[in-house]
Amino acid sequence: MRLRALHHWILVSLLFTLGPAAHNSAGQGTGFNPALPLTRVDNGPNSAWAQKQHYLVLVSLDGFRWDYAKRDNAAHLLSLARQGVSAPQGMMPSYPSLTFPNHYTLVTGLYPEHTGIVANSFFDPARGARYAYNDPETANDGSWYSGIPLWSLAETQGMHAACILWVACEAKIAGFRPSYYAHYDAKTEPTPEAQQARIENAAALLRLPAADRPHFIAIYFSEPDHSGHHYGPDAPETRAAVLKMDALIGKLESALKTTGLPIDLVVVSDHGMVKSQGDWINLDQFADLTGFDAVKDHLYAKSEADRTRVYNQLKKASPQFIVFRRKDVPADLNYNQNPREGDPVVIATGPYAIRAHAPAAGEPNPPPTTGMHGFDPHRIPEMKAIFFAAGPDLVVEKTVAPFDNVNLYPWMAHLLGLTPPKSDGDLGILSGTLRDGGAPLETEQGK
Ligand SMILES: [Zn+2]
Repeated sequence: MRLRALHHWILVSLLFTLGPAAHNSAGQGTGFNPALPLTRVDNGPNSAWAQKQHYLVLVSLDGFRWDYAKRDNAAHLLSLARQGVSAPQGMMPSYPSLTFPNHYTLVTGLYPEHTGIVANSFFDPARGARYAYNDPETANDGSWYSGIPLWSLAETQGMHAACILWVACEAKIAGFRPSYYAHYDAKTEPTPEAQQARIENAAALLRLPAADRPHFIAIYFSEPDHSGHHYGPDAPETRAAVLKMDALIGKLESALKTTGLPIDLVVVSDHGMVKSQGDWINLDQFADLTGFDAVKDHLYAKSEADRTRVYNQLKKASPQFIVFRRKDVPADLNYNQNPREGDPVVIATGPYAIRAHAPAAGEPNPPPTTGMHGFDPHRIPEMKAIFFAAGPDLVVEKTVAPFDNVNLYPWMAHLLGLTPPKSDGDLGILSGTLRDGGAPLETEQGK
């Protein structure tokens, strides 16, 4: 651990360096866009080894369904597929196909029940506390997160990383925060200014001196998820959002090219989108949930008797969901081990909106959104996500069959020359996309 005082001094001085003041005083400017200020954390300089490694820019387009690029002729993404590798039938999100579980799974290689982020919001019976994605007190508290996010892995091995609005960017996990991160603000995040700033800041970070320059940059965009929810996946507004995000990818590609660095660019999404059917299904219509805590459709009881009773009441209640005792949830969902999942576990059989209770009288009770996700991707293929990647370490014009998104972690670690910990992912799944075939690397640890 670094000394606190030193940490503070450098944090303040570098905030100044990266801010608009330095932009003016430096004459031609550093290129940082003040619409999305970056916080600098002192993790020491890049090691000499790290400075010799290539660069990885990982972009997520929230809710970008596996078939949108071809459907809407997203020229930049389709060209990325021709220059490099892609999954034309999509990438499998982890269950549940929600934003927080999947973003954190993408950077740890662990299924949500192994990261602990089993939903966007959930209850932890052991802590007696609730996690909510939109509560900074919990979302930025590293003690909720297991696994070693790729940025912490890089920092551990002497390599700088930057994290621009990705899930868990602001939390200290596995001993580290990324050397550079942006503060998430739901109001400013989707503005064109903040979208453009992500691209300019990534390019500016890559122009820093070699000792300060991050080798891994993770960037998050909330579209086309918002449009998909509001208008539905097939609406003209969602198609327009798809093309807007594609144009931003084109801008990012051009900005990365101007750095002249060996950069692998990877574009993914967390999940897809499907048109929802019907109104809310309230589980308390079918079962007496007295004695249960509930977070949306997750059920937490204090007694085994309550679990058994509610399981039996829900078992044959509706064709719109299946209910399992947690230990019996089918293995392919990787969702039967973590008490945060609740017990029993309710799984939708179609694009249905399920919750334990309707809101209390007087509380707002909006209908389900037009587009939805969160479902089992094996059952509802509209949940599948995207995978496009190109760069100096990747083969050209290679396609891969749908694969579980946990496999990206060892693969991204390999691109950066990092030694990953054991995870749920396997480098062998994607080794055919690598120019070196996934051969062992000369790593910082293996030297
Ligand atoms: Zn969403």
